[in-house]
Amino acid sequence: MKTMTWTTFSQQPRAAELLHHSLRNDRLAHAYLFTGPKGAGKKQMALHLAKSLFCQEKEADACGACLSCRRIEAGNHPDITVITPDGASIKIDQIRHLQKEMAMRAVESIHKVYILEHVDKMTTQAANSLLKFLEEPPAGVIAMLLTEQSHAILPTILSRCQIIHFSPLSAEAIAEKLVLEGVSAGMARIASHITSNLEEARVLSQAEWFAQLRNVMIQLVQECKQHNSSALYTIHDMLQKSDKLKEELPLFLDLLILWLRDILYVQVDRHAHLINSDQQDVLQGQALIWTKAELLHGIDLVMETKNRIERNANAQLALERLVLQIQEG
Ligand SMILES: [Zn+2]
Repeated sequence: MKTMTWTTFSQQPRAAELLHHSLRNDRLAHAYLFTGPKGAGKKQMALHLAKSLFCQEKEADACGACLSCRRIEAGNHPDITVITPDGASIKIDQIRHLQKEMAMRAVESIHKVYILEHVDKMTTQAANSLLKFLEEPPAGVIAMLLTEQSHAILPTILSRCQIIHFSPLSAEAIAEKLVLEGVSAGMARIASHITSNLEEARVLSQAEWFAQLRNVMIQLVQECKQHNSSALYTIHDMLQKSDKLKEELPLFLDLLILWLRDILYVQVDRHAHLINSDQQDVLQGQALIWTKAELLHGIDLVMETKNRIERNANAQLALERLVLQIQEG
């Protein structure tokens, strides 16, 4: 595993800089709330702060290799407690248990740390109990509350925390992560441009049906220019064959927009902007038969169709109409 340091948190430079600075100057707050979308690295940052507090080798950073760093990574450091919802919510018993843990003397330094994941999912009792705890923090205890939904947290809790915002990951950052997990660069790039949620992008990039959806889309664009009814057969076929593909038509249309945009990019020689960069040959061929005006008009029509389907229009009719409109030019 790559060793993280504060300067390698390139996706969240502001949060990392702020925490590092506070740690270096011995000015950490008693409680932090890390808020931001799933996959933005909140827990990773929380664990890094914990490692940096306890690391035996580095000052105000983590080496990743000493006993402390390794125990934190493995989840068995005696002075760190991580709490996640027990079922649907964090329960009062969990907070009581936490309070007991935190009241005990720290084993390995003057600090104790607790991390509460999904802190928006607390029962009212648990939230009230946590609030009291935040109001009278034991010396040396540092709280890190993590959430994707800070609006769902009691204002009284928010006001006790220093709030650190995590921004959504860029498409490039998501693609990079997926490639490290073994997804092909082409699929990673497409999935990361369809959604800015890492988890969703991961699912898409590995789903058979998503690859299928994309193949049908590419075929359809080809057939739109053939001025026969093969494009209509393709639509019919797709909708008959799989309920999943039918459900995912808005996604199909998103893929179609990205594809038409890519043909435009090829035409103006901006290959670095291509999303479907693994299909350059096909794009190159289509760039010769579509005009710029047709592509721009096509993108408009696809967006219109997407709106229509989202307003519950008959999917098959809407798609057929799209194809006929494109073919008419
Ligand atoms: Zn260390």
